[in-house]
Amino acid sequence: MSGIDGLPPLREVIATHQLSAKKSLGQNFLLDLNLTAKIARAAGDLSNMDVLEVGPGPGGLTRGLLAEGARRVLAVEKDERCLPALDEIARHYEGRLEVINGDALQVDPLAKLTPPIAICANLPYNVGTELLVRWLTPTDWPPFWSTLTLMFQREVAERIVAQPGSKAYGRLALLAQWRCEARIVISLPPSAFTPPPKVSSAVVHLKALPEPRYPADAKTLERVVAMSFNQRRKMLRAALKGLAPDIEDKLLAAGIEPTERAEQVSLEQFCALARVLKS
Ligand code: SAM
Repeated sequence: MSGIDGLPPLREVIATHQLSAKKSLGQNFLLDLNLTAKIARAAGDLSNMDVLEVGPGPGGLTRGLLAEGARRVLAVEKDERCLPALDEIARHYEGRLEVINGDALQVDPLAKLTPPIAICANLPYNVGTELLVRWLTPTDWPPFWSTLTLMFQREVAERIVAQPGSKAYGRLALLAQWRCEARIVISLPPSAFTPPPKVSSAVVHLKALPEPRYPADAKTLERVVAMSFNQRRKMLRAALKGLAPDIEDKLLAAGIEPTERAEQVSLEQFCALARVLKS
């Protein structure tokens, strides 16, 4: 029996290539091609885009992306056991899939991609967060990518879209929302994966804005936000006292009460503080 795209069903692919899930590589596979097509659609119209997929595994999401019309997919996979399965997909979609066997934290695939570029991934969570922070903090803006469509642990997804005053609000929300539109687009129970992870997951879609929402020097903003949330229960005048001898005046100049805690401060106010500190 073949899958909806004419390739074998993913359970068969996994059995044929003996892809027993490795915990060390965070392997929780998506086997439902309707679901992977839905995730691909959440990435938007990919027909004129190159897609960078990180961690294709047996290729469920890769097949979703190609079936939904991605111009080209460049996939970076660390586990070489997955390469024969990915090779079958590459032959089926001739000229549209290229696979790099390597660690996404080490390889730089940029030279192999033609803009506009979308990034799509169902990654192990620790690698996903580290890559997200890298993608959100490039040297120049706009970045090399136009959109990110990424699977995260539900709790991490909530941190990305969080608003001031909530427990989830912090560095990730500010980094993401300063220069992107960020939304949770799909929620998934553990049973959507094989093997099922312990927690629920969610797909977050981020769209790079052409300009930051509020002007600020990126490095200064990143430093202020990191320091503010490293001691999130402290008043800002205490958490930030290492930044400037007259930090209370600077906070006031940015329209922030020095007795406020980081959790209450908006993105606009953090940007104002970064500008005051840089002036
Ligand atoms: N995309 C597939 C799916 O949705 O079924 C697999 C998802 S599984 C959660 C994560 C995949 O990322 C695995 O195939 C794993 O081997 C791969 N991976 C883990 N760490 C990686 C890294 N540092 N670089 C590239 N791939 C990695």
